[in-house]
Amino acid sequence: MSEARPDLSQILSRKVTVLGATGTVGVATLDVIRHARKTYGADAFPLQALTAQKSVDALALLAHELKPELAVIGDASLLSELREKLSGSGVRAEAGQEALIDAAKEPSDVVMAAIVGAAGLAPTLAAAERGAIITLANKECLVAAGPVFRKAMANARHKMVPVDSEHNAALQLLDGSDTAALEKITLTASGGPFRTWTMERMRSVTPEQAVAHPNWSMGAKISVDSATLMNKGLELIEAHYLFDLPLEQLDAVVHAQSVVHCLVSYTDGSQLAHLSAPDMRVPISYALGWPRRISSPARRLDLAQIGQLTFEAPDMERFPCLRLARDCLQSGGAAPTILNAANEVAVEYFLGRRIAFLGIAEIVESTLSAMSRETNGAAPASLAEVLALDAETRARAREICRAAA
Ligand code: NDP
Ligand code: MG
Repeated sequence: MSEARPDLSQILSRKVTVLGATGTVGVATLDVIRHARKTYGADAFPLQALTAQKSVDALALLAHELKPELAVIGDASLLSELREKLSGSGVRAEAGQEALIDAAKEPSDVVMAAIVGAAGLAPTLAAAERGAIITLANKECLVAAGPVFRKAMANARHKMVPVDSEHNAALQLLDGSDTAALEKITLTASGGPFRTWTMERMRSVTPEQAVAHPNWSMGAKISVDSATLMNKGLELIEAHYLFDLPLEQLDAVVHAQSVVHCLVSYTDGSQLAHLSAPDMRVPISYALGWPRRISSPARRLDLAQIGQLTFEAPDMERFPCLRLARDCLQSGGAAPTILNAANEVAVEYFLGRRIAFLGIAEIVESTLSAMSRETNGAAPASLAEVLALDAETRARAREICRAAA
């Protein structure tokens, strides 16, 4: 961070690949790029590749409009459909899981990692290993494979810029500051749609209620994670790997308005806060423009209209997922990888109406204790080891889900 800052024209000429282009973060990223092209010129942020899993229509539309060199659909059965839709466009079309990894390997300066879940691990790691700037939304990468990414990014020329709003805010608050005087980073949590609900009332929560986040519009998985507060737990683990801080220097506070995204405390008693409208185009703009700032189409904040900002301690009795994630960060080793996989399975079962909302924490806890008896507890040291532990955990979690269903 001490090296000379690139000038804006260098930043705008960065070639970008968007993994998960059809998702909430992917779409918001492309909106920031459209805005940059309007503001700075049509050649801002040329696109190397866009990817999706199944949304072939949306991917083809984006490719026609934004002209990446390559479009990749993860579901191999959709290759001929994608090729047909892109014929004459000049955009190459590929499909399958290997093609997603190859897309990440194609030369681009920045890779927006916006696939959801552990599915994003292999492509994101491939991009990290070739030295692309990783703008990371896909927090599951660091939760499931923190040490592996750390090793891949150990070289000083490798950069990871968080897109997750709290971590992006922390980076903004830390940039240029005296990091030796850092005391604590506090992530804010909206508290989700059930912030004020009793356990009794949460027993009958439906997927529709859980994905209806009060402040943010997000994909289904992260919306459920926000409702259980697992999201904040995953984010504490993410912050641990991004900023190299132990749990004692990481904290979470519930802030229902989602206006303050992060607080950074220094040894002189100062606490700096980052504020913005809850709009992902703010952190995405900072990540794409980092270490400078670029114009963003994001909503502007009107504090007088908001009136009040409130803060409260998270309730770990009603939201046990946060406690489980904190415990996993504390114990380290294999625990975060197991936590992530168990949570992905439990959320999938909840969204499929096969377990109850409160069952998510129960499944995660049971899977963690079953796996702690069955594995040696060491942190997986390579992508292959992460994927093996992830698969083993998923199989175990599915068994536990089926028994609970
Ligand atoms: P979405 O569900 O909206 O989008 C996910 C994207 O990943 C889509 O493009 C989807 O393609 C693709 N995808 C899904 N499954 C696979 C797979 N198995 N292999 C390859 N690609 C796949 O998610 P979000 O945009 O909400 O979230 C993306 C990531 O960013 C998550 O890790 C989330 O935690 C993180 N994040 C999101 C925030 C938000 O505001 N949404 C905020 C902070 C972090 P298709 O459309 O074809 O299914
Ligand atoms: Mg976040």
